[in-house]
Amino acid sequence: MIYPFQSYKVSPAYKKSFLEELPQVSSALPEFFRATTVASQSVQQRDIFGNPRGIRQDAGVDDSLKLLLLACFNDGLLSEQAKPAQVLDLVRQLSLLWYSFGNKIDSCIFLGYYFYEMQSTALHLVDELKKQIGFLASVSGQAHRHLQDGVDTLMLSYSPHWYRAQAGIGDKKSDIFIADGDFTKTDLPRPGYQIHFKKSKLYDLRAPFFVSTQQVETPLVQQDKIVSSCPSCGQKCRGKLFSFIEIKCPKCSTVWQQKT
Ligand SMILES: [Zn+2]
Repeated sequence: MIYPFQSYKVSPAYKKSFLEELPQVSSALPEFFRATTVASQSVQQRDIFGNPRGIRQDAGVDDSLKLLLLACFNDGLLSEQAKPAQVLDLVRQLSLLWYSFGNKIDSCIFLGYYFYEMQSTALHLVDELKKQIGFLASVSGQAHRHLQDGVDTLMLSYSPHWYRAQAGIGDKKSDIFIADGDFTKTDLPRPGYQIHFKKSKLYDLRAPFFVSTQQVETPLVQQDKIVSSCPSCGQKCRGKLFSFIEIKCPKCSTVWQQKT
């Protein structure tokens, strides 16, 4: 399988500053990748119904994740106020970055399964670990930077500007597209799209876990024209209706692509 994030790359300058500014995170990530690579083997083993056999408890994922989160505290990427979903999103971004620095994909396949399909388990674990580490970090007094939630300091891999297409939802500012069956539509209290990749198993580590209804625009289709809002300035723009279109905003010149 070719995973959609496989060609994700960051600049050598970004890599250099990442390694310099986040020394503890950089030294915790290799062990986290080693443990999750081991765990990926147990997930890839299927039972007779084709379901993954589950996560082996002896792979060391919990311990290495705990050390990674502690490193995030110490490097100032995480504060005690961060919510479990934000912590998990931070780990997702770190994994994507670490992979893009030239590390193996096996770990990311496991993490895709864990972050998206097994999300309630992952959130529960992160919450538990955060409680333990928050205590340690405040005792040692090393959580000094207290950045808001860490996410700002890394490179976000998706935008808040999404569209509804016939066969799924997509991000206007990237080529991330989540096909029907890979998300569940949720209602109140949090209306939106819970992304789990249960149908395709084509985990895209660039994708958010959840997209709210307000972030997803259903374009207006009139005969052979489509009207969609510019993801930069909000201007309503017209395009000719094809299955895949490129629109250039007449107001701010932003160019974006979307499926219809
Ligand atoms: Zn515009």
